[in-house]
Amino acid sequence: MADDCIFCKIIAGELPSERIDEDEDTVAFLDINPWTRGHSLVVPKRHSRNLLDIDDDDLRRTAVAAKRLAARLRERLGCDGVNLLNATEPAAWQSVFHFHLHVIPRYDDDPLQLPVRPQPIAQEELARLGEELRG
Ligand code: 5GP
Ligand code: ZN
Repeated sequence: MADDCIFCKIIAGELPSERIDEDEDTVAFLDINPWTRGHSLVVPKRHSRNLLDIDDDDLRRTAVAAKRLAARLRERLGCDGVNLLNATEPAAWQSVFHFHLHVIPRYDDDPLQLPVRPQPIAQEELARLGEELRG
């Protein structure tokens, strides 16, 4: 448990949460500022800062828990789709520094919009990037 980590405190039951799922290694609870109805967070019980820091097994277990939760959101809330989101570091919108996956149920008529406008890229630039990133 990390000092001053609100998610560690939620996991330990020292702070309240609307817990909706739990297994040996993970906990899932409702987000207090939901983007859609049922927006939830899945966290590993063991503290890690984010995707660059998390142990591979904790990442696997958290992903599996998110899958289980997605199925439940579909079954119980009748969502039409699901977004999984992770924010790693403030540049990527991370605001709580305990690894978490957002599980966001999506509805055909929900108001969420893609917050970016994908841009076309020249084929040569794509190839240069591929070269830089391979291996
Ligand atoms: P991040 O921006 O780090 O990806 O997401 C953090 C999320 O945690 C936000 O969606 C925020 O609403 C949620 N959150 C922050 N504090 C609390 C809390 O005390 N309880 C719950 N349930 N969610 C929280
Ligand atoms: Zn923590």
